[in-house]
Amino acid sequence: MNDIQYLNRLFKEYYRENRKNLPLINSFNEREFGFIPWDKQIRMIRHMNFSSRENLMKNLFSNGPRHVYSSGALYFQPENQDMSGKGFKGCDLIIDIDADHFYTPCKEDHDFWYCKECGESGNGIVDRCPSCHKSKFKTLTWICEKCLDIAKYEIIKLIYDFLIPDFAIELNQIRIAFSGHRGYHLKIENDKIRTLSSDERRELADYITGENVSFEILGLQTRSGTFYRFSQDTIGWAQKILRKTEEILNKPDADIKNYLSNNEKFNLNNSYIKSFINSKQDFLTKIKETNRFILPSIEGFGMTNWKKFFTGVVHELGVEIDIPVTVDIHRLIRYPGSLHGKTGFKVQEILPDEIDDFNPLDERKESLDPIVFESKVHTTQKLEILEEKVPVTKIKGEKHGPYSKGDIIEVPHHVAIFLLCKEVAKTI
Ligand SMILES: [Zn+2]
Ligand SMILES: [Zn+2]
Repeated sequence: MNDIQYLNRLFKEYYRENRKNLPLINSFNEREFGFIPWDKQIRMIRHMNFSSRENLMKNLFSNGPRHVYSSGALYFQPENQDMSGKGFKGCDLIIDIDADHFYTPCKEDHDFWYCKECGESGNGIVDRCPSCHKSKFKTLTWICEKCLDIAKYEIIKLIYDFLIPDFAIELNQIRIAFSGHRGYHLKIENDKIRTLSSDERRELADYITGENVSFEILGLQTRSGTFYRFSQDTIGWAQKILRKTEEILNKPDADIKNYLSNNEKFNLNNSYIKSFINSKQDFLTKIKETNRFILPSIEGFGMTNWKKFFTGVVHELGVEIDIPVTVDIHRLIRYPGSLHGKTGFKVQEILPDEIDDFNPLDERKESLDPIVFESKVHTTQKLEILEEKVPVTKIKGEKHGPYSKGDIIEVPHHVAIFLLCKEVAKTI
């Protein structure tokens, strides 16, 4: 039996054992299903529909697919092979936050690239090869508690800074799931939201990322050498920016300096940061005034620097969502409780009040643990490493690796499954 057959068999066993445990998503019968099998020749089998969970589970435990998806959309005929023949009824709002889509410092430790043109390699993420300036790469991306924590924090921001205050979404309409790999999905089940068009979803996504916030529209202006800010009574972005500004001003000077030195976000040079800090008390006084909206006069601060500062604040507040996922009303998303074929982890649903303590790589609550192949009898497995470099994997509080090509290793069962699913090792 080769490794693919081995993983396929494990997945089948998982679905057989959990045939009563997989959650039943709402409007189950109106969803389209899609599976990606282990055979790489086949991209995706889609346009399927199941009349009951029992039928879905029968299929899953006889086939044990690598990935399992269902539609965010509801259809009259979900099994119709033709998209236009399905009869679109509406679509849940899906928001995907994936650590792969934004910069995190830990990627310098655990992500690698190899240039296919010249053979150069390095850590982190690059747009172009520093040697040959081409951009044909083979990449190896990994996960760790740090990037998953950042993704989790983005979900929390999304719920409490946007969905609840700005869109009046109720907590019981929000479903969150750990994707089984690098991030989280959030689904809103609300009848009004279901009717939104793709364009309307794009507007909503732009609002959440802060992509096209116009400071002029919010009220930033200059008259006779005085700069005027937005009013804190206006809800939405104006209020968020001012609150965050106040939070920044209340930090110790050294922290403000550190904070504003983040060039990716603020792009302010040191002398401007210094004059900003010198005017901090004045700014704090002026920001509390509710009858006039004047900005302090800061040495060197014209419209350009004010915009740089507020743009940095917006970047800090906006949520890093994957926009195409939210805009596409025919997108399929991972089915809760199914297995992710690139990790062997479960797509784990979590309630909003469980997310603070949730730690997918070392979860204490058994009912929320995505690592389903942890062996209770501490069995280990022997593997040979196939990839040039494999970064450290920390699962269940234990570190494994780093490894190099040809290493023969012996690791706990769940770590072995992870490395096999990642296709960086083979059984021996
Ligand atoms: Zn190169
Ligand atoms: Zn990381």
